[in-house]
Amino acid sequence: MSKITMTTPLVEMDGDEMTRVLWEMIKEELLLPHIDLKTEYYDLGLEYRNATDDQVTVDAAEATKKYKVAVKCATITPNAARVDEYDLKKMWKSPNGTIRAMLDGTVFRAPILVKGIEPVVNKWKKPITLARHAYGDVYKNAEMQIPGPGTVELVYTAADGSQKKELIHQFEGPGVVQGMHNLDGSIESFARSCMNYALDLGQDLWFATKDTISKQYDHHFKDIFQEVYDKEFQEKFEKAGIEYFYTLIDDAVARVMKSEGGFIWACKNYDGDVMSDMVSSAYGSLAMMTSVLVSPQGYYEYEAAHGTVQRHYYRYKKGEETSTNPVATIFAWTGALAKRGEMDGNQALIDFAAKLEQATLQTIESGKMTGDLALITSIENPQVLNSRAFIQEIASRL
Ligand code: NAP
Ligand code: MG
Repeated sequence: MSKITMTTPLVEMDGDEMTRVLWEMIKEELLLPHIDLKTEYYDLGLEYRNATDDQVTVDAAEATKKYKVAVKCATITPNAARVDEYDLKKMWKSPNGTIRAMLDGTVFRAPILVKGIEPVVNKWKKPITLARHAYGDVYKNAEMQIPGPGTVELVYTAADGSQKKELIHQFEGPGVVQGMHNLDGSIESFARSCMNYALDLGQDLWFATKDTISKQYDHHFKDIFQEVYDKEFQEKFEKAGIEYFYTLIDDAVARVMKSEGGFIWACKNYDGDVMSDMVSSAYGSLAMMTSVLVSPQGYYEYEAAHGTVQRHYYRYKKGEETSTNPVATIFAWTGALAKRGEMDGNQALIDFAAKLEQATLQTIESGKMTGDLALITSIENPQVLNSRAFIQEIASRL
């Protein structure tokens, strides 16, 4: 049988620990036997990031701009313990943060639905894709403790020196204050990414803020979304038969719980942080989530939603058997291969990605799965496999 050929390379970003081990297994067992895999390889493992003063992360993001599609393995974001463990020159920044900033992207996360792993919310039949704004608000705030009586004001000094002031509070005793901001450009990019992604998936887009209470700040988000929609997307949405729907955040939460799923939910930074953990836990497991960073220019970076699964890696290094779930990492590859196929008009590659996803889900539905899923499945007597055996089981179905 001849292998599927590729015309344009994928940007491949390797990573750390247990997911790096899975990465190699997935390529060896599932991809290389079937595809004449063309990638431009970047080693984002912590050792090589340290050796290159993190230049490799910047290069990988630049390559993503060039080739438009990347697939990324989970990577360590160093903390003090990691600086010691890997003898680092510096506490390097989060690679995801660096790449997100360079691509100005929005992260979309959706659950991978499979029979036998039922959502806690039993009305949910289809995935809910959560889109989180990745810039500003409380994540770039300034805050202060107020020790006692006094006045706190918001002051804007324009470039010409003129000033605008707003009283925050006349304190009569101690308290706290917080100031935060966002940028029109970033909100517009966010709106555009969400609307393009809704067209990609052919699904409705929901957006919600607290604009009744925050009449300037949150209302500005609502206005910008509406403007971008009216100017650039209304016709395309109508043609695709999908809807842009705005409502209040509390109303959105109530509607989401009563919905069947099958839409994209765009959230401001904090709402997205909180709601994505709620939605993903309710669907079952972080190892059963897809995650893709989409830039407003149409660059795509696919990854798993979970981390490097450090505890499993330490057991693996001691020679113990581990049953780490590779599904999210497999789906990062299939997402990237399908997108590559779509951009290059390569139907064989698109078909292969769909078959690999099917083979993965059918393996679980047949009762063969990793330990994390065995704990939550409704399938009776599941057979727990180690990572490689599970991947080999998928390979034989494929
Ligand atoms: P994690 O790697 O997501 O793992 C947390 C726990 O979740 C694991 O200990 C494991 O539980 C379970 N888990 C996660 N993925 C699993 C999988 N595929 N199969 C089975 N179980 C899974 O998060 P972490 O331990 O907080 O972080 C480890 C490292 O990952 C950190 O250095 C962090 O910086 C990095 N990280 C990277 C990314 C990214 O690159 N996108 C995201 C988050 C964190 P049990 O141990 O109970 O089995
Ligand atoms: Mg969070």
